[in-house]
Amino acid sequence: MEQMSDVGLIGLGVMGENLALNMERNGRKVSVWNRTVPGVEEGVVQRFMEGRAKGKRISGYLNLTDFVYSLSHPRVVMMMVRAGEAVDELIGLLTPLLSEGDILIDGGNSDYRDTERRVTACRAQGIHFVGAGISGGAEGALRGASIMPGGAVEAWPVIRSLLKDIAAKAADGTPCCDWIGPGGAGHFIKMVHNGIEYGDMQLIAEAYFLLKRAGNLSNDEISHLFSRWNEGRLKSYLVEITSAILAYKESDGGFLVDRILDVAGQKGTGQWSVKSALEMGIPFGLIAESVFQRIISALKDLRVRAAQVYDISDNSPKIEALLSITDLEQTLFASKLVAYAQGFDLLSEASKRFGWNLDLASIARIWRGGCIIRSVFLDELAQAYEEIPLLHNLLLFPLFSAQIKDALPAWKNVVALAVKEGIAIPAFASALNYFYSLTTENLPANLIQAQRDYFGAHTFERTDSMRGCFYHEDWISLK
Ligand code: NDP
Repeated sequence: MEQMSDVGLIGLGVMGENLALNMERNGRKVSVWNRTVPGVEEGVVQRFMEGRAKGKRISGYLNLTDFVYSLSHPRVVMMMVRAGEAVDELIGLLTPLLSEGDILIDGGNSDYRDTERRVTACRAQGIHFVGAGISGGAEGALRGASIMPGGAVEAWPVIRSLLKDIAAKAADGTPCCDWIGPGGAGHFIKMVHNGIEYGDMQLIAEAYFLLKRAGNLSNDEISHLFSRWNEGRLKSYLVEITSAILAYKESDGGFLVDRILDVAGQKGTGQWSVKSALEMGIPFGLIAESVFQRIISALKDLRVRAAQVYDISDNSPKIEALLSITDLEQTLFASKLVAYAQGFDLLSEASKRFGWNLDLASIARIWRGGCIIRSVFLDELAQAYEEIPLLHNLLLFPLFSAQIKDALPAWKNVVALAVKEGIAIPAFASALNYFYSLTTENLPANLIQAQRDYFGAHTFERTDSMRGCFYHEDWISLK
């Protein structure tokens, strides 16, 4: 009789195939299943079994029941399918086949609210549902990803070793995976990770833009610079791949990056994080700006027309003498700190609001390897939350406030230079303005409150009275 499998994997897409191979490499016998779409001549399962899975301890199934019954108890099934309806459809197909105590893991990019609902619905049927955010793309899935599981905690002792084995390992050897919390906590954390990723990418793009437009540097020169920055405090996966991308040439010797249309795509998790920040009242300007910049990039035809109307060309005079590379490094670092401050504020608020009791230091450590935003900086971030678990804002941590103070003159110079020269750097500017607002004791919101009270009797608090006491003024007497 054939040996039972340790784990089942559903969805042989880019991520699923690689995760199945990763699990097998880590000593698990794996069963795989993919839906069979009518009209597809060669089944996805057969192709995988005859290709990358050949000779490995992987069994492919065309029938879902056979797949489920090939698993040892308690059964562990990971779904790696398109987020949304596909997950609900699969749960509907699987639950009648599963038994009490079996575990269903959704490793896709699901909305955390869907995960909350699924955890509850599955619990009612005795099934432990886990929403695991997974970051790292295809390579991470194969060699080690950053994994953020949350949901039914009963599942954790059973799946802990599997998930830790297939996770990336940080430089100190720690697996980049730990239990996040109940309900949709795992997917919420992945969503915020993606929001920060949008911010990080936009900031790097703006640094590249300034070096190209203002600095007059060639792709090779910018590539070398990023590679140098990757040896210091900016060391990160995104800086590393930026250097490689800028140096990449096609067979005719032309730079590929120069031939890529400036229209950025997006799949939604950045937007979700901004929506959550709005719902929870968290200032999230830099990350929102990064999402909006992808949107404005997509309005290519409009931008081309507007550039003609205002007679603005890409070949504006170069101002390399004024752009300091050291200042730009400071600006990139300080702005990056703001992106993380905004992301972690959102995590902290969600933790309070949903009673998740998130360990922010642990989350920072999980992101040190495997995922897209992995960077050396996350060690310091973890240290901040270890020393002060209830830290109000990352910018108040002494190590970071010292770095921000040091960067401030450079940050102002770079933003001022770009604004004066008409070079779009919305994320750098948003980060600086966030810092200014955060550190301004008296903002002009007194005037906004007065306006609101004037036209709508919305009331205001007074500086010469206790907080929480609200007043209304008869600004104009209504007859
Ligand atoms: P792919 O598009 O490569 O694969 C999607 C998989 O979902 C396929 O196996 C597809 O089956 C299956 N599927 C789609 N609809 C259904 C359905 N209704 N019922 C059953 N199966 C269905 O996606 P990825 O592998 O890239 O991503 C999988 C999940 O992981 C997604 O949620 C994605 O957001 C997430 N993710 C992706 C990352 C990446 O870098 N690609 C990184 C981290 C997470 P079929 O072959 O029949 O179409």
